[in-house]
Order: sequence, then structure tokens, then C-alpha cells
Amino acid sequence: MNIILLGPPGAGKGTQARKLEEKYGMIQLSTGDMLRASIKKGEPLGLEAKGLMDQGSLVPDALIVSMIEARIDQPDCAKGFILDGFPRTVPQAQALDQMLSLKKKNLDAVIELKVDEAALIERVAGRFTCAKCGEGYHDTFKPTRIDGVCDVCGAKEFSRRSDDNAETMKIRLQAYRDQTAPILPYYEQKGMLKGLDGMAEMTFVFDQLCQLIDSL
Ligand code: ADP
Ligand code: ADP
Ligand code: ZN
Repeated sequence: MNIILLGPPGAGKGTQARKLEEKYGMIQLSTGDMLRASIKKGEPLGLEAKGLMDQGSLVPDALIVSMIEARIDQPDCAKGFILDGFPRTVPQAQALDQMLSLKKKNLDAVIELKVDEAALIERVAGRFTCAKCGEGYHDTFKPTRIDGVCDVCGAKEFSRRSDDNAETMKIRLQAYRDQTAPILPYYEQKGMLKGLDGMAEMTFVFDQLCQLIDSL
């Protein structure tokens, strides 16, 4: 099964995608994670994206589309994938349709996580990640069980994203409203859009998501 998890920054896409990956064996494809990995490796693609990401603006469609296209061709995607953070513009959504039809793959659903802006700002401000295994945490909503130790792998190093600050978040939210929200009607017209209340507790959101996926 192939799905898109859609929602503004901090909506819970990454959190839910990791849990879905574990339960259903689908692969999480996060364009944000791919870009950050590319920056870390010092690749030209990462260098091109870095300034825009730091600023909170979207990176060019062509760059993202070729990155996803190469990733979807990898054998692990045959089990199904969860797109997290892609598509983010109407041209990206159109490019995705085109590449999937060429590859004889299809999309099963587009699931929107709906969260109020005030909650998004709070979520992003408290977000941190295990530097070793990538498990996501939150200062208030999902602290580690033992202070300073990752629940999953026991590592003691964590990272915070440099773009998770109030100033950049304003620009990211504006980019969501202007450039990403127009893809909601795009998928609605195709009858593929499903909405979920992303304001609920993480485990409740996950249960709702599983019910939805099991009903597809
Ligand atoms: P996204 O991938 O959509 O940007 P994340 O999954 O990284 O969002 O979630 C952003 C932050 O909010 C993380 O710190 C995460 O632990 C926390 N979070 C995720 N879902 C919820 C929820 N339902 N309630 C409260 N906090 C949440
Ligand atoms: P979020 O937590 O805001 O959902 P992501 O990790 O998905 O953040 O994205 C971080 C940044 O990477 C974005 O602000 C943008 O600069 C860039 N980016 C990620 N995915 C895309 C995409 N599909 N199109 C354009 N830019 C992207
Ligand atoms: Zn860890």
C-alpha cells in the first residue's frame, strides 16, 4: 500500500510514519530527512537546499522530484511507502502522479493530519530526536522515560533542528498555507483525501490512522 501523510510542520507526520512503518512494513520516505542526510554528507544537492531550509522556504520542485524518483525505484519500496513531507506543491503532486503511472504503481490514500497553528508552534519548539536511531521526542508531550537516555536505543545524544525556531516556523507555516494547502483540493477532486484529527493524543491518532488504513 502506498500513502501520503499530509499536514503542516509539526502535525505529527514523522511520528506516525515511523509507527506505521513498524506495524505494516511500509517504508517511510521523508524528503526532509533525505535532505538533512544529504547536507550531513556534504553532497551538492544538500548544499543547494541548505540555505532555503534554514530560511524556512521550500526547495525547488525539480530537485525534490528527482530525489523521490530515485528513491521510489529502490527495491525496499516495493513493500509500499509512506510519503512524509512530499508532495508539498501542486507541481510536485502532478509529477508524482506521472512518475507513479509510468512505474505502474498507485496511491491508495492521501491522509491529512489536522492540527491548529498554536499547537504546531508548541510541538515544533519542543521537538528533539535521538542522534543515533532517529526516534522523535518532545519536551512536554513525549519526554524520554529516563532523562537524557533514548528509550529505543539507549543513546545519550540528541539533536534539535536549527529550523525549529519561532521565526523560521512562521515562514514554514506561510509556505504551507500558500504552496502546500492547494494540493488538498487536488486530491479531494480525485476522491482520495481523508482527514484525521491530529490534535488528539499520539496513540489515539495512531489508532485512527490504522482503522483508516485497514478500511482501504
Ligand atoms: P512532522 O513530521 O509533521 O513535522 P513530528 O512527527 O516530528 O511532526 O511531530 C512534531 C513534534 O510534536 C514532535 O516533538 C512529536 O513528539 C510531537 N507530537 C507528534 N504528535 C503529537 C501529538 N499527537 N500530540 C502531541 N505532540 C505530538
Ligand atoms: P516539517 O517538520 O516542517 O514537516 P520537513 O523535515 O518535512 O519539515 O522539511 C524541512 C525543510 O525541508 C522544509 O522547510 C523545506 O525547506 C525542505 N523540504 C522538505 N520536503 C520538501 C518538499 N517536498 N518540497 C520542497 N521543500 C521541501
Ligand atoms: Zn535512539
